[in-house]
Amino acid sequence: MNFEILDGARRILQTLNNAGYEAYLVGGCVRDLLRGVEPHDWDICTSALPEETERCFADRRVIETGLKHGTVTVLEEGQPYEITTYRTEGPYSDSRRPDFVCFVPNLEEDLARRDFTMNAIAMDLQGNLQDPFGGVDDIKAGLIRCVGEPGHRFQEDGLRVMRALRFAAVFGYEIEEQTAQAVHENRAMLDRVAAERINAELCKLLVGKGAGNALRQYPDVFCQFWPQLGPLVTLEQNNPWHCWGGWEHTIHAVEGAPTDVTLRLAMLLHDIGKPACKSTDENGIDHFYGHPAVSAQLAEQMLRALKFDNKTRERVVLLVEHHDAQLPPRSQVIRRWLNRLGPEAFFQLLEVKRADNMGQTLEKVRGRLAELEEIRDKAEQILAEDQCLALKDLAVDGRDVMAAGIAPGPAVGQVLEGLLERVLSGEIPNERDALLNWIAHYKNSGQKQDAN
Ligand code: ATP
Ligand code: MG
Repeated sequence: MNFEILDGARRILQTLNNAGYEAYLVGGCVRDLLRGVEPHDWDICTSALPEETERCFADRRVIETGLKHGTVTVLEEGQPYEITTYRTEGPYSDSRRPDFVCFVPNLEEDLARRDFTMNAIAMDLQGNLQDPFGGVDDIKAGLIRCVGEPGHRFQEDGLRVMRALRFAAVFGYEIEEQTAQAVHENRAMLDRVAAERINAELCKLLVGKGAGNALRQYPDVFCQFWPQLGPLVTLEQNNPWHCWGGWEHTIHAVEGAPTDVTLRLAMLLHDIGKPACKSTDENGIDHFYGHPAVSAQLAEQMLRALKFDNKTRERVVLLVEHHDAQLPPRSQVIRRWLNRLGPEAFFQLLEVKRADNMGQTLEKVRGRLAELEEIRDKAEQILAEDQCLALKDLAVDGRDVMAAGIAPGPAVGQVLEGLLERVLSGEIPNERDALLNWIAHYKNSGQKQDAN
């Protein structure tokens, strides 16, 4: 084991033991200790009833928000620790939280309510394990297995379907065969799970190292909350650029993207509009004209349905919309795109294009990948040299334009836009004299026109 039990957690276990109660670390932290990964939170379970726990920590700050479910949160050196009385759960009528909980006298009953064997291991102060469901062996084998009868467990709580896929993707584990079958069979339980909770699991899953495998092995689960994926999963594309069908291409594109939620969502959805745009020419080659716009529309709908925040949704939609944009490695063009999208989105678009290429016939796209590198270098150079990209970067402003004799009003903005356009295209340099010269010229020609 590479990580030690945190001192704060140690003191809490000791305090409960000293008062005569059983107390164990449990769940994610024990699993992560056994995996050799540093735990991010330390859950504790105990035989003490909530009010007994509170009495043990009368001298500490205690947060009572979880009291109804038997949880007392104790702050130890600023770090919160959840201490939960051994309990079982009643039915999940809304698949969000149990209708009620029952406190039980022994640890094993508490472990039995937990979702997967790897999450149903307890560890005492000395490091001794209580592992009635074989979680340690499953961790060693890299297996996700339900505690108890899998179908029953997924029917109790549909979120577990997504949790199984999420843990598989994040840890690079496989889902044990019977649990996997039950995942498929009970995927419709997700209909009863709040969109926000599916969203949270999906985001973690997509940045996991096994995200591609989860998409490959469980497309039916993803289609359950995003039915729009269905036609993409079965899409064939007979096209020299594509060595795979729509779904396998999408999976490679997701895997080829950096581990960032926005980029991975963009890759998952970038071709979602292809099935609706498919046509086959006289040579039997498939085309998907106009698919980026259709993909963007569908992506917008899907991200809304899953309650993504505006910022993520808007950015993903933007990237999907432009994923196929022509982007020759010329400074003029790069300046325009930098101006249009802003640097952050522009560099994300380059990542999207790179990942999209990773999902295509590799010998065909080598040149394009090199070109993307060139574009990135040029863009970085443009930004480093602080070249003019937006109105605010122009060497003149509205006051200069008015001082040059343009009447206040919309004409001032038009002149500035005209200047920016010419600077971006390289027609005139972003220098004050050159710009003022152009304004004077514009004004004269404009007045002549007025005179006509
Ligand atoms: P992580 O915090 O790393 O995402 P975790 O396993 O700690 O993983 P939590 O949601 O923090 O996940 O839950 C803590 C523990 O509670 C789990 O390890 C598991 O034992 C139990 N648990 C959580 N959610 C469920 C559920 N939906 N059904 C059954 N048990 C659950
Ligand atoms: Mg946790």
